Amino acid sequence: MANLDGHLNDMIWRHLPLRNLTVALFVWLVLTVLFAGVSMRIEYQRASEELAATGQTIHRLISQRAAQHDAHLTSLVALIKAAPELPETAIGEVFQSIIQFYPRITAIDLVRLPVEGGSTAVSLISWPNSSLKTDLSPIASAIAGQKQGEVRTYLNPAYPGRYLLGKRATADNPGLAIVVQIDPALLIEGDERPAWAGLRVSLAGETVLDLKAEGPGANDRILTQRHFSKVVDSQSQPFMVDVTRPLALSDILSGTRIGGFALASLAVLLLLLFTWQLKANARKLQQTAEEAERRAHLQEHETRLAHALRVNALGELASGIAHELTQPLTALLSQSQAALRLAASQDPDPALLPEALSANVREAKRAGAMLKRMRDYISKREQSPVLADLNQIVADIAELVRADLEKRQIILILDLATPSPKAVVDPIEMEQVLHNLIRNAADALQDVDMVEKSIRIETSLSESGAIIRVSDTGSGIEADTLPRLFEPFFTTKTDGMGLGLALCASLVERIGGHIDGRNQTSGGAIFTVTLPAVEQYLKAAQ
Ligand code: ADP
Repeated sequence: MANLDGHLNDMIWRHLPLRNLTVALFVWLVLTVLFAGVSMRIEYQRASEELAATGQTIHRLISQRAAQHDAHLTSLVALIKAAPELPETAIGEVFQSIIQFYPRITAIDLVRLPVEGGSTAVSLISWPNSSLKTDLSPIASAIAGQKQGEVRTYLNPAYPGRYLLGKRATADNPGLAIVVQIDPALLIEGDERPAWAGLRVSLAGETVLDLKAEGPGANDRILTQRHFSKVVDSQSQPFMVDVTRPLALSDILSGTRIGGFALASLAVLLLLLFTWQLKANARKLQQTAEEAERRAHLQEHETRLAHALRVNALGELASGIAHELTQPLTALLSQSQAALRLAASQDPDPALLPEALSANVREAKRAGAMLKRMRDYISKREQSPVLADLNQIVADIAELVRADLEKRQIILILDLATPSPKAVVDPIEMEQVLHNLIRNAADALQDVDMVEKSIRIETSLSESGAIIRVSDTGSGIEADTLPRLFEPFFTTKTDGMGLGLALCASLVERIGGHIDGRNQTSGGAIFTVTLPAVEQYLKAAQ
């Protein structure tokens, strides 16, 4: 199990390069910040809407209650008018029952207003008894001045926090008035105001009620405060209702929600990244496999090409070797016959026999070397580069082709540098390259009508490396053939395969050299093989 976990971890980290991981984390961070921003905006909006709705409700309730107060005053004034003779106790009971049902009405008084010029008001009936606990004289003259039917609000100077509503009785009882005392703290009941809402009720700039917001977040550092303000549409009690909602960061930013989003989005992003990375790796692996297959295919093709060329050249080589072998075999035959004759003679010269036999041995060795070269030439073997003497390689191939060229009346000119240039090559492959170049040159000279047909092989050492040039005095390369010289299977010959130069380029390039072919200004073609100098080769191999 531990092993499996380790393997999984290894897979994840190997498949998630640091750059992609950094990008994913950055995207995650941006997403989380965006989410926090949007969710704060929504919460803020929601809180504002909630405040507007609560403000409307509180305003409506206060308006209703103000209207109720007006209605009470109206019915009390009507009561006095209808039954002026009603006993004091009966009126007191009505007052009592109103106060019982409406706790915010804390006192009701029937007051005799001061007569003209006076200022003393006398409370005739009051509930609770002497409840106003104040001399109503300061407001009595103001009530006396009120219009018929008008209700007016007065702040109670002797009882701050309560307010008074006064209404004159009808014309029948001009000296009487009803005064009602209200406790504004009970205008709104506890469950009618949410804990988060602050409530301020004022009248003509004087605050009659000020309730602070409570509840969670109310004591945190306030970010902003939202307001709802509206005046109560009442003649008698035109209160300004001001509902507030303080907003702390914790009110609009839910840590749990944002944390949840951050975790979920991180998990999804990592999963996406991991899947994407796995796919990309699989694609890369497939591409590498395809590339390897393509290269193997090419390699195989090249090997087949090389082999095909060797086999193709075999016919020519065989005839060259056969020609070459004729000479040592003829020499062997004649030396052996001479030795036989010597052995059969009456008085043989003892010094002549070993001489004849040594000549036989020499000729047999020469024939053996030729056959070995032929076997090497056609065998499909691995490249084995050695530090080789280029002049020697040229000499060897010259020996191989000389007879054939002579037959075709072509002069072979060797122009070899001293000291001989050296390069790290596979001598057999280099012979193949030169053999191809010589064969092509000979073909180009085939149909040329000239007295002196020649092929020149030159070696030299330059800054760019060791150089072998094969030039001829033939017809030269056609202009449209030039760019396609090294293209496999491109040939202008009826019996050609078009593989010779392609193979030459491949063999030379394999050891870090290059080959090019062009026309000489003096006529004929020239092919230049440039091989890395020994120093360059050693440096590259280090
Ligand atoms: P092929 O075996 O068909 O000759 P090669 O790859 O050896 O194929 O050569 C391709 C072509 O290059 C030849 O068909 C010929 O047209 C041209 N070419 C090569 N060497 C010479 C040269 N020395 N002179 C003129 N044309 C040449």
